[in-house]
Parts: sequence; C-alpha cells; structure tokens
Amino acid sequence: MAEQVENDSIPDSTQTVAGLRDRIAQYRRAGESIAFVPTMGALHEGHLSLVRLGKQRADRCVASIFVNPKQFAAHEDLGTYPRRETEDMKMLAGAGCDFVFLPQPEEMYPEGFATSVKVEGLSEPLDGQSRPHFFGGVATVVAKLLNQVRADVAIFGEKDYQQLLVIRRLNEDLDIGSEIIGGPIVREEDGLAMSSRNAYLSSVERRIAGQLNKVLRQTALKLTQGGDVLGSIEDGHALLKHAGFGAIDYFEARSGKDLSPLGPGKLTEEELAHARVFIAAMLGRTRLIDNMKVTEA
Ligand code: AMP
Repeated sequence: MAEQVENDSIPDSTQTVAGLRDRIAQYRRAGESIAFVPTMGALHEGHLSLVRLGKQRADRCVASIFVNPKQFAAHEDLGTYPRRETEDMKMLAGAGCDFVFLPQPEEMYPEGFATSVKVEGLSEPLDGQSRPHFFGGVATVVAKLLNQVRADVAIFGEKDYQQLLVIRRLNEDLDIGSEIIGGPIVREEDGLAMSSRNAYLSSVERRIAGQLNKVLRQTALKLTQGGDVLGSIEDGHALLKHAGFGAIDYFEARSGKDLSPLGPGKLTEEELAHARVFIAAMLGRTRLIDNMKVTEA
C-alpha cells in the first residue's frame, strides 16, 4: 500500500467531539463544504475510494476511525478487530483526507449514555437476522457521528448495502440533512470485496474466498436471463458449499430500493431493474459478505 502514500505527512486529528466541532466550525467560517467518511480503520482501497469521492464532492474531507463496541455481539471479534492507526493515517493523507476524528469509546459513550437508535423495517432482514444487535449499534453510532459532523455529504460503501439503506433512512427520519452517497464496491483482482476482515483469512481460505463473488455474479446473471430465483440460488448454495464455504447466513434476491424479497419464480422486468443478490457466508471463522445489482453482473 506504500505507493498510495504521497508523503509521510498525516492529517490533523482529534480524539474529542469538542476538537471535531472546532475544526468543522473553522471550515464553515471559511465557507468550505464538508464530506464525511466514517470507518472502523484497518483501511484499504475501498475506504480510500470513499475519501477520494468525498474530495470530489466537497472542499474538505473528514474521516473517522472508531471501532464501535455497540455493533459487536459478545461472541464477535471486537477484541481482535485489526487496529493500524499509524498506517491508516498515512493512507488517509495520501487519499487527500483533511481531518480525522479518533474517539475513544468513553468519548462516544460516556457514563450514563442511554440512547439507542433503531431503524425499523430495513434493519430486520439479512444481517438483521444473523446479527440481531448489529444495526442498532450501527444506527446509534452513525446518528451520533452524522450529528457531530453535520457534513454536506456523507459517504458509505455499497459493500454494506443494507447499512447504506438504513443510514439513508435515519438521516431522513432524524432530519440530519446530510446527503448520503453510496460508493461502488472496490474488489481484489479475483473479485473478493475488499474488507478489513479479509486479513483473518488463511492463504488456503484466501484462494477459496474469490468464489463468493463468482457465485454471486453467476447467480445474478442467471436471474437476468430469466432463471427463477429459488433454483438459481439453490445452485449457488451448492457451488459455495462445494468451494469450501461453511454456514451460509443468507443468500437472497431482494429489491435494492427497499429490500423487499423477490422470487421464488422468475423476476419481472420491473423487479429486474432494482434486483440485488445478497450473500453472507462463513469461510472458516471469517464471515464474508457481498452483494451485486443483478443487471451489473
Ligand atoms: P468499515 O471500516 O468496515 O466500517 O467500513 C467503513 C466504510 O467503508 C463503510 O461505508 C463501508 O461500506 C465502506 N467499505 C468497506 N469496504 C469497502 C469496499 N470494498 N468497497 C467500498 N466501500 C467499502
């Protein structure tokens, strides 16, 4: 990743909400527009693409790095989630990020913190089923972050497509007033969606992991060619199992507009226009997710 770093400088940063607000006020006084990219760190090209998008859309790009304890269940990987702050800061500088918010958990959730944000409907299927605590934690922290930054635009990856829809909804419902932009999924050469969690994969698993996107693409292609949803997904399941994947949390076709379920038969023209396929599957101890608009297969 060193080639992405133009120099050794790192962006200014703060660990406090007050420090963040000061800097935002400074940008506003200068009449500058602001883009915001929230992350959990262990950055890769997917995150940096969002920062670059931010710089295209606004004068300043603010990023945050916060491994949000509220979105991890007790059995999940909060303790082992990769943390690489020094490298992250250099990468952010290389991508043109102006300022970084690096709160500790106590800054985001001081003693007495008692509010949680729940987005009904959109939070319920897919990851809402397999990770019941997840969207509550995400919605709560993102509502806080959006409110703290009050950016003109906030950018989220389509890699976490359900999350993007949940955040659009909460931004509207809570009158936050930022424009929520989705950034395209950045992939490795074999199609694997970049993810901080890919670092958990062994070399054998890493070779298998590329099959997730291949199966996703094949399934999407079948749907565009008039294949029925149930049969196409059953075939995909078998391919994933054969490739070496473990539990498949979900493998479903849903509307990209509102996540309403599609199928079991073949898709109508109207359904095809918005259909997406969503997969979450275990590979060893690592949970991988991916999704794709079927007409882009
Ligand atoms: P995370 O650090 O995993 O919480 O992700 C921070 C932001 O980066 C979220 O909006 C993600 O959807 C986005 N993101 C993560 N991986 C990718 C990727 N491969 N391509 C595009 N965006 C991504």
